[in-house]
Amino acid sequence: MTDPSYDEVSAYHEAGHVVFAYLFNIPVKCVTIKKTPCFRYTYYGMLKIIFKKRVARIILAAGLFVQQKYFPLVNDSRDGQTDKKRFDLISKRDPAFNLSEAKSVLDKHFEDPVIRYKIEILSHELLKERTLNGDKIKKILDAAVLQNS
Ligand SMILES: [Zn+2]
Repeated sequence: MTDPSYDEVSAYHEAGHVVFAYLFNIPVKCVTIKKTPCFRYTYYGMLKIIFKKRVARIILAAGLFVQQKYFPLVNDSRDGQTDKKRFDLISKRDPAFNLSEAKSVLDKHFEDPVIRYKIEILSHELLKERTLNGDKIKKILDAAVLQNS
């Protein structure tokens, strides 16, 4: 296997955030793997997410979690560091829910082939289009269902 490109790793990382946001009904306005004008990012409907501290942390942890599932040999990214800082910031107000708890929730969902399929479909679209808006994201994820499920 050849080394994955930076874009490829970014696409899976961002798709991880988006698919788990979708799973927990947190709207995503936009996702991009472009480095400019914004550095690889997922925009959420923030007002809603801020009151759901645990869901917010599961979604924050999902980027690096998914990235490491698909590319275990790739080092932690800059984006992953930002995610960890945000995770710790929210945790100050609710310390009972830590990273390993977030990861066990993610692990459980990752066993579902439908979730993995959605991540794969979305990251391929993201690699192709580089930026996806909320409507496009919803259309892709709603359509990504396994034939025999
Ligand atoms: Zn991230």
